[in-house]
Amino acid sequence: MPDDRLPTPERALVVAAHPDDAEFGAGGTVARWVGEGTEVRYLIATRGDKGSDDPNVDVRALVARRETEQRAAAAAVGVDGVDFLDEPDGQVQPTLALRERITRAIRAFRPEIVMTHDPTVLFVNNEWVNHPDHRAVGQATVDAVFPTARDPLNFREHLDAGLGPWKVAELFLWSTNEANQLVDIGATLDRKVAALEQHASQFRSFDEIARWVRRRSEELGERAGYRAAEGFRRVTLAR
Ligand SMILES: [Zn+2]
Repeated sequence: MPDDRLPTPERALVVAAHPDDAEFGAGGTVARWVGEGTEVRYLIATRGDKGSDDPNVDVRALVARRETEQRAAAAAVGVDGVDFLDEPDGQVQPTLALRERITRAIRAFRPEIVMTHDPTVLFVNNEWVNHPDHRAVGQATVDAVFPTARDPLNFREHLDAGLGPWKVAELFLWSTNEANQLVDIGATLDRKVAALEQHASQFRSFDEIARWVRRRSEELGERAGYRAAEGFRRVTLAR
């Protein structure tokens, strides 16, 4: 079997805009890492409070449901650390305040690898528009990784809270048009799909979604000789 040269970090942080983004973007890779002993945490910027097409929906109930679904989806791939930032769904901006909160999470958890949305992508594969929240969260996260978390004088109040500077070694960016890392998820595709299935409020027909995810993963995998793959723009940061 070809070697995808995937490192096994001690800790990886996944920063996503909405409940279900982490599963679509990286669920198979996360499941693989957890199986290899990596500690993975999720930081979700919003609770998905616009994730309904019913204008009369009870938003508080929706938010509670989506949080529960996200925790179950994380648990399905072995992740029990899930934090939410309570940004407003559909209105996330890459503000300094958001960058500070992501920086705080990075300095507290000290991950070698951070996974998030590729913020440079406006049109994904010329198939759909990349949600503005995805771009905003990706941008704030990349900026938090470099240079903010690295340099102690940025948000130096973190030092007083016992949070030292931290150098992230690599970024893994999903929904990218420039994938340079295909991860073999042949052994974990079923768990990715099982995690996605937890987001029941988001799918009219989960079978259709599952078929689409499987087909897409298999098409990507074919390029590298794997049964299934996830693709990332992998950026290795100079030390
Ligand atoms: Zn999303």
